[in-house]
Amino acid sequence: MSMIEKKQGVILKGVGGFYYVLCGEEVYETRARGLFRKDGVKPLPGDRVVITPPTDISCGYLEEVLERKNSLIRPAVSNIDLLLIVIAAKAPAPDMLLVDKLLVYAACSGIRAAIAVNKCDWEEDTLNRVRKEYNGVAAVYGVSAKTGAGIDELCGLLEGTNTCFAGQSAVGKSSIINAIDPTASLKTGILSRKTDRGRHTTRHSELMYLEKTHSTVIDTPGFSVLELLDLEPEDLKDYYPEFKDAACRFGNKCVHMSEPGCSVIERMRSGDISAARYKRYSLLFEQLKERKDKKYG
Ligand code: ZN
Repeated sequence: MSMIEKKQGVILKGVGGFYYVLCGEEVYETRARGLFRKDGVKPLPGDRVVITPPTDISCGYLEEVLERKNSLIRPAVSNIDLLLIVIAAKAPAPDMLLVDKLLVYAACSGIRAAIAVNKCDWEEDTLNRVRKEYNGVAAVYGVSAKTGAGIDELCGLLEGTNTCFAGQSAVGKSSIINAIDPTASLKTGILSRKTDRGRHTTRHSELMYLEKTHSTVIDTPGFSVLELLDLEPEDLKDYYPEFKDAACRFGNKCVHMSEPGCSVIERMRSGDISAARYKRYSLLFEQLKERKDKKYG
């Protein structure tokens, strides 16, 4: 045993007690040693780990999970560097409230976020509108998975990162991943066939490795973020970068809803803050408040 050299890698997925670990360009099948169950640590996709690779006579072992930078609950994944929020320029109509929730979620989790507007070959107005609304809030990338426009810039953003793709279904998340690296889904397909052992029914988180950008990505179905936002309504404002320098009469106590002397509302009326985004802020505030009232009322 001592002759086998240990390796460091990243868990791509865990299925039925097996963990598939990417070390360089190789994927190894490993099993967790009993100690994880004892410590109550459940290894997650995205975890940086130390493994003993399998040999002809022994299976591979997951030896150690290195310290996590962050972790999400749904999808259950760790060490996310970037949350890429994907919307379509048109069809489906962009759900901007979901975009704002995801931005708040990312900020709460300490994760950098960016927005990609797909299907820009169809329609350019959405991209311009979104760029204007999120100026100073998040970087906005215009892409077309179909024509390849903007994909190079997106590759630059993804380079070397572990990125979580999020957004409504049918916005083209997997098409963008395919446009970046056409072999990604193919490789995943092979990996699944080899390793799933017929367990296709359980939905699990899985990272894909993109050779072109030396990055890993996870494509999530539209997850319901509001339920995950563990946030007091009064704290919501802290996750809106454009509210930062607010000089309201009630100072930091002002939640910018209807207080007199609110500089955020003033700035929104003068067009300095996007009225559309402000409107969604107040909607989200009410939703959080309603949920809190239900919980304690
Ligand atoms: Zn205010």
